Amino acid sequence: MRFICKVVFFMLLGSMVAFAKPTIYILATGGTIAGSGSGVLDSSYTSGTVTVDKLIAAVPEINKIATIKGEQISNIGSQEMNNEVWLKLAKRVNELLNSGKADGIVITHGTDTMEETAYFLDLVVKSDKPVVMVGAMRNSGSLSADGPLNLFNAVNVAMSKDSVGKGVVVTMNDEIHAAREVTKTNTTGVDTFKSPNAGKIGTVFYGNVKYYMTPARKHTTKSAFDIEKIKELPRVDIIFSHSNDNPDFINLAVANGAKGIVNAGMGNGNPFPSALEALGEAVKKGVVVVRDSRVGSGETTMNGEVDDTKYGFLTSDNLNVQKARVLLMLALATTNDKAKIQEFFLTH
Ligand code: GLU
Repeated sequence: MRFICKVVFFMLLGSMVAFAKPTIYILATGGTIAGSGSGVLDSSYTSGTVTVDKLIAAVPEINKIATIKGEQISNIGSQEMNNEVWLKLAKRVNELLNSGKADGIVITHGTDTMEETAYFLDLVVKSDKPVVMVGAMRNSGSLSADGPLNLFNAVNVAMSKDSVGKGVVVTMNDEIHAAREVTKTNTTGVDTFKSPNAGKIGTVFYGNVKYYMTPARKHTTKSAFDIEKIKELPRVDIIFSHSNDNPDFINLAVANGAKGIVNAGMGNGNPFPSALEALGEAVKKGVVVVRDSRVGSGETTMNGEVDDTKYGFLTSDNLNVQKARVLLMLALATTNDKAKIQEFFLTH
């Protein structure tokens, strides 16, 4: 009798564990997914007008598969994204994941700078649990708004055991992309997010999550960066190169206190001659200059057409300029050792 009771007890316990819903926090920051316009065919709208409760209420299906909790971190268009929101977001994600309150996190975000926030979090979140960023290209009141299905898919990705250890991912348009690789490639299309150097790492089709690749670079628990030790992020400017360029913006960046400059050079990271000399002068004044490319894919190779050793430049490997800026800010908040900073670019 006692034995039978024990068996029944453990079977009940087992099924409770098996059916226990994971707790997923949705941290809302704004963007088109939380945007509204005046009509279903209105292409003009305002980002960040819909609150997290309304976002959740629009997709009741997610409450059936997970215990959903919502928090409003900010409600802005992501062109307004800034260091304060980044630091707040990173601290909250770490708190929720490491206290055991959350099994996974979904962050709703505007698409303009989603890739920068994703990579920032990828470098500073100290947990293997899933962190999934999601947005929409069509506002919530639009015909065929893509936000609700994107959100449903993102919750499924955040619940998936297969997402553990993948770092921060971006889930949009049925695809899963790694934070380091993903970039916005089209101003209006729903298939805007691509990973030009590596391709998507997985798919999510009506909640069915499948991975095909694992990010190889250091992220989250293996990243060198500790956000608890970083109180503020130093100024790093991106300077775009073009034909018939001049050194003015470089000189201005240095005069205004930039600690680092990422140059979006032509081709394999080539600046215009006068800009090249100004970048060299910036290095002499203690500014860390990272040569990168305006092309958007491929490696910027050390000592290619530019003598990096002579000028004291670093190179970005194959990070795009907006992500090289994120990495350089975190690197400069951690060390002034240029060899170490170059190493970060080759490993993260
Ligand atoms: N500028 C807006 C933002 O990034 C719109 C882009 C979007 O969310 O799709 O928040």
